[in-house]
Amino acid sequence: MTGDEKKQLLQFLDLASDFLGTGYRGEREEYHIDDDRPRDVAGSDSLEAIAEEVRACQACKLCQGRHKAVPGEGVSQPLVMVIGEGPGADEDSTGRPFVGRAGQLLDKMLAAINLDRNTNCFIANVVKCRPPNNRDPEQDEIAACAPFLQRQLALLKPRAILTVGRVPTQALLGTAEGISRLRGRFFEYQGIPLLPTYHPSALLRDEGLKRPAWEDLKQLRAFLNSPDKDGRIPPHASGAVGSVSGVGTYSGTSSIGNTDPLEEQN
Ligand code: SF4
Repeated sequence: MTGDEKKQLLQFLDLASDFLGTGYRGEREEYHIDDDRPRDVAGSDSLEAIAEEVRACQACKLCQGRHKAVPGEGVSQPLVMVIGEGPGADEDSTGRPFVGRAGQLLDKMLAAINLDRNTNCFIANVVKCRPPNNRDPEQDEIAACAPFLQRQLALLKPRAILTVGRVPTQALLGTAEGISRLRGRFFEYQGIPLLPTYHPSALLRDEGLKRPAWEDLKQLRAFLNSPDKDGRIPPHASGAVGSVSGVGTYSGTSSIGNTDPLEEQN
């Protein structure tokens, strides 16, 4: 019951009491009742507000060494939210996610399946500030930063999450399993399909990982081309970029060509 509804009920009860008692309406003080409905957090939140808070945040020790926090970037209604581990040196100096060599490869990976941070993706990390010497973020740092990621997810409502690398995959799925066992399989995170794959920096280090990463990306594209839970194919789900073509139905295989565009990336 809202504050207004409670106020109306109290006024009605007062009125009934007056007429049953004296038969006249008595003087009453105005009721002041706070509206105690649970607030729709996403409704009053915004990506800009989150980014501002991230830039000012000192909730964990990573704030001490950062030059620029990296809240994330992309469109506000993405098809896919890409979640990585944390900013590196290039990201720390620019305040933007995935802009170094690995970031350029990530952009190419996404483009190969018709995804782009400027049109249908949002890219963020589990920690928004750079861990020193590019070490893995620690559990307390991931936990301190998690509310920002939760708020971003609540606003973005992506059709799918693509985790790149072991750290974000383990953090979101709450598992200690390695990325080579987790990649290429769909999981769910808060009701959103989640597909793990290798981090692009791993592909730069090990050419042999490009083939399985491409298989993962084809799976993601096939899923995005399948009808959603209401039986609709989002208009921005189909299209043709690179070797990606057509609209298919997700069945574990895809309508994407088998030419591996990542083979040419280095
Ligand atoms: Fe705050 Fe996250 Fe940066 Fe830690 S990593 S200081 S929690 S924004």
